[in-house]
Amino acid sequence: MSHLPDTLADRYRRFKFRHFAPNQDHYEDLAAFGQNPEVMVVSCCDSRVDPETIFSAMPGELFVVRNVANLIPPFETSGKFHGVSAALEFAALNLRVKHILVLGHSGCGGVRACLEEDAAKQSEAQFIRNWMSMLGTARDAVLRDPKLAPGSEQRYALELEGIKTSLANLRTFPCIQILEAKGRVTLHGAHFDIATGTLSVLNDAADAFVPV
Ligand SMILES: [Zn+2]
Repeated sequence: MSHLPDTLADRYRRFKFRHFAPNQDHYEDLAAFGQNPEVMVVSCCDSRVDPETIFSAMPGELFVVRNVANLIPPFETSGKFHGVSAALEFAALNLRVKHILVLGHSGCGGVRACLEEDAAKQSEAQFIRNWMSMLGTARDAVLRDPKLAPGSEQRYALELEGIKTSLANLRTFPCIQILEAKGRVTLHGAHFDIATGTLSVLNDAADAFVPV
């Protein structure tokens, strides 16, 4: 039988004592009445960018989907396995979330792999390369932009473009189109800078990310 690492077992006991016990009533209500989050967050798997921590959320408050580079694929029904689309459908139609936030971040490894596609081609990263191909158009535009210096400037630009691409893909889902048109759901994009803790939110009208 596998053995849970001591660090996890110790941290679980700490959670049970310091967090769960003082909030047990809240957990019992969640168990009895189910979840009713108003916000869905699509964020990166990156261990440094935890939505619950950034937004000081309690259990039951955020419906979170995490994947490499916080991407939402476009709507399509190929009969394959669409984890993000299934979560999105559940959040929009069953939970009736009022807000959907795509949360990108600085130093994103998925975005870096996308920009350094040639390096990825020669590695075993077949899943990441295919997944990140969703940003192919945005990547090409960033690489063509003469104002962006190679390296960190291009990576930052593609992090922002990736958030916008996910929002555009989100709007290809018929259920999102209907709910957004009725004003029942609002879509948001944001970028979190790990080193400074700055959260910048996409202002659609200005087409710019503005610090909160
Ligand atoms: Zn990332």
